[in-house]
Amino acid sequence: MKLVVLTGAGISAESGLKTFRASDGLWEAHRIDDVATPEGFARDPDLVHAFYDTRRAQAQGVVPNAAHAALARLEAHLTSTDDAGFTLVTQNIDDLHERAGSVRVVHMHGELNSALCSQCGARLPWTGPLGNRPPCPRCGGHTLRPDVVWFGEIPYRMNEIAQAVDECDLFVVVGTSGVVYPAAGFSSMARAAGARTVLLNLEEQDGWARYDEVHLGPASEVVPRWVDDLIGESHT
Ligand code: NAD
Repeated sequence: MKLVVLTGAGISAESGLKTFRASDGLWEAHRIDDVATPEGFARDPDLVHAFYDTRRAQAQGVVPNAAHAALARLEAHLTSTDDAGFTLVTQNIDDLHERAGSVRVVHMHGELNSALCSQCGARLPWTGPLGNRPPCPRCGGHTLRPDVVWFGEIPYRMNEIAQAVDECDLFVVVGTSGVVYPAAGFSSMARAAGARTVLLNLEEQDGWARYDEVHLGPASEVVPRWVDDLIGESHT
């Protein structure tokens, strides 16, 4: 079986990281245009750096929940057999999947624990702040920005994701509102290519009726239950 899982902010909500749209299009009380666009960064880099420096420190202070752990368990189970394929695509910029034990994680929207140099293009592991304008270790320019894909920018590893979505038998969406493209289009792509589609989300969302299977509820309850059922099925 080839499986692709797409996760969004909802999977990290119960770890204490707020989602994006839940509060009227605001992210931690900031307008998306101000903190998640290249134009917002050009307008007020101090604000954007302070925002992501706070998100980075906040993410470092929380721990993965049962949903992250269940997906790590599923990966370990599936990849223990030769012919299984498993790809975890996340829109999240936190590292809770990795800290739960997931290995094959594709961060299509970048990572808080990474810095991008807008002068030389280097992508560097980064756990400290950027608001103090540290020099780029590669080129020396004071030109580092959060390595996060903002609206209007191209997500990472799209070819690899498109191939995995096209080839999968099962496509599972966890905790995402389904409004941020291109990720919002992946389930239609998977369905068109013949995959079974499953939605695990707190509530109904746009297009939920088009999924083959829908399980509503908090990720920390719904995801472990779904994973245990799938692992159980694979033993029968
Ligand atoms: P979103 O905030 O637009 O939608 C979150 C979805 O999760 C909603 O459908 C909501 O019903 C659901 N949800 C909320 N709590 C849940 C729970 N406990 N269990 C299951 N589902 C729950 O998120 P998105 O679609 O991922 O888009 C947000 C964008 O913002 C992403 O691109 C991401 O980069 C960024 N973001 C990231 C983080 C993070 O890394 N943790 C947090 C906020 C925003």
